[in-house]
Amino acid sequence: MTADARASLPELGADASREYRLGIMGGTFDPIHYGHMVTAEQAREALDLDLVLFMPAGSPAFKQGQRVTDAEDRYAMTLLATAANAAFDASRFEIDRVGVTYTVDTLVELRAHYPENVRLFFITGADAILDLLTWRDAGRMAELATFIAATRPGYNIEQARRRIEASGLPFDVRYIEIPALAISSTNIRARVAAGKSVRYLTNESVIGYIRKHGLYNESVVERTDVL
Ligand code: ATP
Ligand code: MG
Repeated sequence: MTADARASLPELGADASREYRLGIMGGTFDPIHYGHMVTAEQAREALDLDLVLFMPAGSPAFKQGQRVTDAEDRYAMTLLATAANAAFDASRFEIDRVGVTYTVDTLVELRAHYPENVRLFFITGADAILDLLTWRDAGRMAELATFIAATRPGYNIEQARRRIEASGLPFDVRYIEIPALAISSTNIRARVAAGKSVRYLTNESVIGYIRKHGLYNESVVERTDVL
């Protein structure tokens, strides 16, 4: 871990006599939207998190070979969307790391960086938790963080629960039901490309950024999961 990467992490854990609960909201955030915001906010409340770090992936492992917007743009939009919430922070931690982004590397580095009294919670939606066992070093991840799995329209969280339980891996997953928002970045990109409105799907400032920088105008809409 470089000194620069460490410098981008917020201070936490100073009072050794108490536990600090750090949420990590990972994603591509291409772009960030209200589905992400609601997931993080409800996870923060349900698990009493002190802070949620929104961490755009530098080069997402599951999106290799797919066109992904420049990391600086995705980070800038994440910063805009989270700026007004004192319990949210946008982090450069993963975009400043070279190579493919694996969550296990992030968790190992965060664990090494923070003192023992900082507990890590990795926040995901139901689609991500369904795939969890296919992530690199899943067993290692299970030892490093508690997972929070939020419901997401179109995905079966009970199926995820069964899958993880059957794996025998020591995962600690907290399942939370959140207000259903059938919003996806894929759908937002497709809407922008088609000249349709994306108002009320994400923050006004994010929409302003998309327009100002001409993002997604020629978005290649070849995926079918436009939920
Ligand atoms: P894309 O369509 O490009 O895959 P996305 O909308 O799925 O984008 P990601 O950046 O892939 O967004 O997701 C980051 C995390 O947020 C994942 O854990 C995902 O499950 C969760 N998430 C995204 N949208 C929602 C939503 N509407 N409700 C609940 N969780 C969500
Ligand atoms: Mg996704």
